[in-house]
Amino acid sequence: MTVWEKLEILGAAASYDHSCTGTGFKREAPATLEGRKRIPGIYLAHTADGRCLPLLKVLFTNRCRYDCAYCVNRASNDIPRAGFEPRELAGLAMEFYRRGLIRGIFLSSAVFRSADYTMEKMLETARLLRKVYGFRGYLHLKILPGADPELVCQAVRLASRVSANLEFVRRKSLSLLAPGKEKRVLIGALAQARRFKLEEELSTSLTTQVIVGATPETDYDLLRTAENLYRQGLLKRMYFSAYLPANEDPRLPALNARPPLLRERRLYEADWLLRFYGFRYHELVSPGQNLPLKLDPKLAWALRHPEFFPVELKTADYRALLRVPGIGPRSARNIIQARKTGVLTEEGLQALGIALKRARYFVTLNGRPLSRAKPETLLRIFLQPEPLPLFT
Ligand code: SF4
Repeated sequence: MTVWEKLEILGAAASYDHSCTGTGFKREAPATLEGRKRIPGIYLAHTADGRCLPLLKVLFTNRCRYDCAYCVNRASNDIPRAGFEPRELAGLAMEFYRRGLIRGIFLSSAVFRSADYTMEKMLETARLLRKVYGFRGYLHLKILPGADPELVCQAVRLASRVSANLEFVRRKSLSLLAPGKEKRVLIGALAQARRFKLEEELSTSLTTQVIVGATPETDYDLLRTAENLYRQGLLKRMYFSAYLPANEDPRLPALNARPPLLRERRLYEADWLLRFYGFRYHELVSPGQNLPLKLDPKLAWALRHPEFFPVELKTADYRALLRVPGIGPRSARNIIQARKTGVLTEEGLQALGIALKRARYFVTLNGRPLSRAKPETLLRIFLQPEPLPLFT
């Protein structure tokens, strides 16, 4: 099998993992390499500051000894299998990098023979890239479930980011659908990575991915786990991946089930509120519930809490400003800065980055409301077209 044939198989196989790209999409790479119109495995990753970076996202191998019910690469599936040698993958990635086709590499893998055996190979690839070829770009390495702690440390030393996928937050779901994996082991790998990163004062970030919609976990369960892991310093970010049916399996939704993409989006919005807006998970969603689909979670919170509003723009502190729909961290800081140096006017608010279309219903300026609409009217304004069963 040629290296390009391997890339075709292993680039496609990596597309299921969102733990570096959010909901990534394929990039039509320029036909600059061996006259090819498309280069398999190159995806765009969305960075926190809104940039899109082309990454080579690939599995080291899709030969797996595990049989996770939801996974296209599971051992019981009859699919084309392939695996790289460290030198051929590192050489290929470096060629893409030198030609400007990629800015980074996301290297994951199925578990061939054992987690340690496969991770050794992945680390050898990473070492070739970093130490032999002088690769300075972004490198994301997956920690395989059950890998030796020493290998986890080596990954943290070589990578810009490492991730260990939790897949499901309830132990029961994990043991039903991924019998070879244990939550305790996966969290242990993240804890090990964090300890080592702190000891060595490295800047490597840690992430995980959970699958949404394949099991009974609610958004409350997912956000509670995310917040706990953030508070323990174990994660920079949790990625949510809407379940995309890949296998016919009685333990899973039907093959024709639609991926819950809107639910995934609401989870990302709520996660953003946990990390940057000072919200707690239980403020956004009740036990046993999912987030509302028709409203973003911040607006939904604001409409459920009329007692908190209006917020006076002239005097409110940073935390209160952040609770206003249409005001984010940057516009909240701008408001506070503008108050120190001049007078706030309604005309000037837009220039501070406030989305007045939303914020006007929740604020006053010098004691004067910017809109007279009542909360009931707001529901009509913000909800299209049916009412929400949320405000109970
Ligand atoms: S260990 Fe990973 S690659 Fe293997 S079946 Fe499970 S999810 Fe798929």
